[in-house]
Amino acid sequence: MVQSKEERRAKKKEYLKEYYSRPEIKAKAKEKRDRPEAKAKAKEYHSRPEIKAKKKEYESRPENRAKKKEYLEEYRDRPEIKAKEKEYHSRPEVKAKEKEYRDRPEIKAKRKGKRDRPEAKAKMKEWQSRPEVKAKAKEKRDRPEVKAKKKEYVQRPEVKAKAKEKRDRPEIKAKAKEKRDRPEAKAKLKEYHSRPEVKAKKKEYYVSPKAKAKMKELASRPENKARRREIASRPEIKAKKKEYRDRPEAKAKRKEYASRPEAKAKKKEYRDRPEAKANAKERRDRPEIKAKAKERQSRPEIKAKAKERQSRPEIKAKAKEKRDRPEIKAKTKERNRKYYQRPENMAKAKEIRDRPENRAKAREEYYKIRLKILQYYSKRLSNSNIPCCHCCGLNSHLDFLSLDHIAGKKEMDSEYELKKLGYSSKLSSAMLFKFLIDNNCPDGFQILCTNCNSAKGYPRNNNECPMKNKPH
Ligand SMILES: [Zn+2]
Ligand SMILES: [Zn+2]
Repeated sequence: MVQSKEERRAKKKEYLKEYYSRPEIKAKAKEKRDRPEAKAKAKEYHSRPEIKAKKKEYESRPENRAKKKEYLEEYRDRPEIKAKEKEYHSRPEVKAKEKEYRDRPEIKAKRKGKRDRPEAKAKMKEWQSRPEVKAKAKEKRDRPEVKAKKKEYVQRPEVKAKAKEKRDRPEIKAKAKEKRDRPEAKAKLKEYHSRPEVKAKKKEYYVSPKAKAKMKELASRPENKARRREIASRPEIKAKKKEYRDRPEAKAKRKEYASRPEAKAKKKEYRDRPEAKANAKERRDRPEIKAKAKERQSRPEIKAKAKERQSRPEIKAKAKEKRDRPEIKAKTKERNRKYYQRPENMAKAKEIRDRPENRAKAREEYYKIRLKILQYYSKRLSNSNIPCCHCCGLNSHLDFLSLDHIAGKKEMDSEYELKKLGYSSKLSSAMLFKFLIDNNCPDGFQILCTNCNSAKGYPRNNNECPMKNKPH
């Protein structure tokens, strides 16, 4: 049988393969390879540049690369290799080394870079969404020790701070909001908050001091205040609010609340604060508010209502009581004084005073008061129901009588009791009469006839009628 050249070569190759796979031959070859001189020789050989280049060229060929990859995959899949690898990586020194390597900043950055690539992310997402992976992760998460560990971790201040920082980033916030606003998320949330146990818990929480303090703090933040103000100023919200406010039951409720003593006290306390007062004044003084108030007050129905109110006995009494308070009186007096000091007001007042009808009225008023004073002092000092001279008893005509300053007009400026009431020798007769009436006719005055009075005034008579205690 004649063999072709190719056939012979193939046969030889097969034989050699079989030969070199024999254990004893393999062992022998290994023994030979492991000899120091053989190793050195091999090393020298493989360090030669031309050999290195050749090797590199060979290894970079696509077909060889694929072959190598395939081989390695097959190799790593072998159970004994896997076991070996596992054993190796579980050694403490190896673990430590690996950890040290993993923790290097540049390695971390590299890993992160890899992780952040879209394709890596997509792959990861795909992996995490597999049911078996999900189930496994959940099973792990639910283990008590894992839960406890996580709880401990998230409560660390630095972890909390980091989480907060992340939450506050605009892009994260926007994302969270987008998620929250999805219909299914909203529905889920609603369902959750409608559960009785959740409601009860919430209720319990909202009445706690901690929650109250937090809500107060939140409400006082400028951005939240601004938001509230913005919302309140929207036309539809305003309209809604007004509609509610105008309902009879809402009105009644407000009225009932405002009438409670504690609500009144609170309101008063608030109104009396300097800043609230200033605010109210500032508001009142705004031209548009002033104009509005004026317009309102000039409406006939408002005027009528105000008049009706002011004429009620209890309101009148209250107003008088207020007017008569010393501090209010002083204030009013000062205000009036200032008012009448202005030339235009002075002129106006004079013009009004000088009108014939007013002059007649004033004269009438003057005589009325004069009579009252004459009657009063005559009754008190002379025990007479008819006005009379306190010296000679003359009572034939009111016009023969006059008011006498017992100690002398000027001298009485230094009498403490009178000064305290506001007496002054500068008071004109009409003003003096008004002063006496307003102060319930104080001591220091008497009624004399013109004769006794002028005789008393002569310097040589020492301020006494020369006919005192004698028939005149
Ligand atoms: Zn007399
Ligand atoms: Zn006399």
